[in-house]
This record gives sequence, C-alpha cells and structure tokens, in this order.
Amino acid sequence: MVDYINKIDKYLKKLFPLTRSITGNGNRETLRYLKEIVPLEIKELKSGTDVYDWKIPREWNVENAWIKDKNGNVLIDFMESNLHLVSYSEPINKILKLSELKNHLHKHKTIPEAIPYRTSYYKQDWGFCVTHDQYDEICNRDPDEKFHVLIDSEFNENGSLSLGELIIPGKSKKEFLISTYICHPSMANDNLSGTIMTAFMAKELLNESNLFYTYRIIWVPETIGAIAYSFFNEKNIKAINHGLEVTTVGGRGSIGYKQSFDSSDILNLIIEEVLKNENIDYIKYPFDIHGSDERQFSSIGFRINMPLITKDKYYEYDYYHSSLDDLNYVSGKDINKTLNLYLKTIKTFEKESLYVNKLNFCEAMLSKYDLYPKLGAAQLPSKKVSSDKDIILWLLHLCDGKYSISQISKKIGVSKNKIVVVADMLCAKGLLQKIK
Ligand code: ZN
Repeated sequence: MVDYINKIDKYLKKLFPLTRSITGNGNRETLRYLKEIVPLEIKELKSGTDVYDWKIPREWNVENAWIKDKNGNVLIDFMESNLHLVSYSEPINKILKLSELKNHLHKHKTIPEAIPYRTSYYKQDWGFCVTHDQYDEICNRDPDEKFHVLIDSEFNENGSLSLGELIIPGKSKKEFLISTYICHPSMANDNLSGTIMTAFMAKELLNESNLFYTYRIIWVPETIGAIAYSFFNEKNIKAINHGLEVTTVGGRGSIGYKQSFDSSDILNLIIEEVLKNENIDYIKYPFDIHGSDERQFSSIGFRINMPLITKDKYYEYDYYHSSLDDLNYVSGKDINKTLNLYLKTIKTFEKESLYVNKLNFCEAMLSKYDLYPKLGAAQLPSKKVSSDKDIILWLLHLCDGKYSISQISKKIGVSKNKIVVVADMLCAKGLLQKIK
C-alpha cells in the first residue's frame, strides 16, 4: 500500500483554484506543478491544426469577468469562483438591459446553492453561471435597470493546446496507455482528483525496476486533447491493446468500475479480482459510449480496452459539474485509496502470463509431437474440458499472444495452475512460445 495522502492534499490545494480549460495558461501551470511530482514533458500542439474530424481551437485565456449593477456593486465575480464564467466565453464590455442579460445566466437545475459548470467551446457565445439566490437577485430587479457586463478574455489564433506526456520504458516495447484530463476548472473530483492521482501513479511506476510493459502516460484536455494526441501518435496508439482512463477517483461515495468495450477482456477480469480481494462492494458499469476519453481510445481505429476505476463516477453523484464538487467533497485519503486499486490492477496485469502459438495457420498435427491418443475417431468430444488433449487444443486455439491464461481459465473452466503446466509442456515441445 502506498501512502501519498498528505502530498495529494497539498497538490489538491495548490491546483484547485487554477482556471483550466481545453487550452490556456491554467493548463500549462497545472502541468508545471505536476512536473514537481514526475518528469513529464509539456508538449504544445498548434491552434488551427486539423486533427481527424476536428480542429485544435484557438487558445483561450481570461483575466477577469464580472456583472455590476447601475451603482457599481459587483453582483457576480469571476475572482470568487472561476465557475461563474462559461468556459470559452468571448470578450464583452457592455451595458445591457435585464432582458439581454437574462439569456446568458445559467443556474443549477436542482441544487440552489451550487454554481453549475458550463462550457461553450465550439459555439461562440458568452455566459455566467450563478446560484439561485444570485439569479433571483438580478432577475427580480426593475426590468429597466441596466447592468455592466465585462469579460476580459482573449482568443489567440497563434496559440496552442498544452498536454503532458511521460513514457516509462519496460522490458517490452509493447505499450500500456494511461490517460487523464486536465481541462476542468475548480472542481475536485471531476477531475483534479484524476489529474493528481495519475502523477502519483506515474511516480510509483517510475520506481519499479522490473516493468514488462512500456507505459505511455498522458494528461490531456478531454476529447479534443485525446483526439489531437492520437492524431500525432497514431502508430503508437494503434499498436496498444490495453490502458486505463483516470477520472473521478476521489469522491466520498462508492468505488465503481466501468468495463472496457469487450467485457471479457483480461483487464476487466483483473479489476474484478482486485476489488474482490480487497473486499470492496463495488458498482459495475457496463461499457457505454458516453464517458471520458475511453471513447476516443476504443474507437474503431484504436480499439484499446480501457476500463476505469472510480470513486463517485462522473454523472453519478449529486455535485457532479458544480461548485460543490470542491475540496470539502474530495480528500487525499479517498484518492490514495483509488490509487492503490489502480496500482494493484497494473501489478496483476504485469504478472499475467501470455503464450503464443508458433503455428500461424491451422491445427498442429498432434501425433507428430506425441500428443495424440493412439487410437482415433471412436470418441465423441465431451461437453466439458476434461482431458489434457482438450486443454492442448484450447491452448493452441486461443494463445494468440493477447488472450491471457486467466481468460483461458475462465473460458474453459480449468484452473490457471493446470493450464500453465500444459502450456509449459507445449513450450517444451516447440508448439507454444512464452511471451511473458
Ligand atoms: Zn466533466
């Protein structure tokens, strides 16, 4: 068990106030703080670049934003919470009538005291997010009253999208992807918890001297960052079979896990085994096309099995995408708990044995290897895997270098130990090769 509780708490406090978005200085500053934990590389991808069906947007930065009444009283102040401003709001400095302002005010549907989180990345617009009291304070005024609205923001066509990358080499060139996102402003579970936890996970992996896989770890703005990164690293991402997405890992509620697109994949089985061994009463979420960057990485061209372990999964908790997802709701202790589950998952995955059949086409002629019963043809195959010959046939059928021993064990209902004995015997006969 690793214990980074105090350090995680320290970074939660440092990073919480920064104004992050899909581009901008808040993201760079966040990545610079993470560099204190692990030697990640900060990369910049130029605004305006076409990436698959998308375009990297202009860089957005904001200095200040407020709404004042006719007497100069500040009614809404970006300096009090960066969630007050709709992310990617265009600049404005205008006197407006109440009827003009009202359409640009957003309040939380159900929680009166919460400031909701809103963005307008791809439609040029502006807006303020407010509590119900703030909304009423403005909207109950004299309809003829004028308000001064200022948003001191700017878009830069020559800017860029910032991301963090760390490659930790293992014995094999085969890569394992770990991805998290850095685009949410002041909210702790979604996703400052994931941003920071990933850095401490990387720190632990850096300390491991005996890794089999090479770990590609990235901190990107959600969606556009994952798409842009995949575009510039297509060959590497295409060659990856497995990964973990890191999001919403530090709430007060339940541990959950979202399966990857192939529910029978080894990584799902391992997570279930880890959670069972820890006696955790978890919620299982089947794969869904909604979600975080697991969507991009398991799209048709990549098909990476990328489950996630969460503590108060996105969409599922009341404070999701609101100002109440703050440092009272999230703690280093809860993040550290999830961190240990991720590390155990990776450790178990590292140990999982893999074999590959050395014959690419058709079955082996078993009698050549003295593996076939002397008299053929008479018996009907049994429904259950009962003989060594059955295990041999299943192993030769399934060992493609990806399908692991745990999966084979689950599929044919034979213990892992027994399968490994037969697999090692097939290696000695030159039919299988052990990859790890
Ligand atoms: Zn979110």
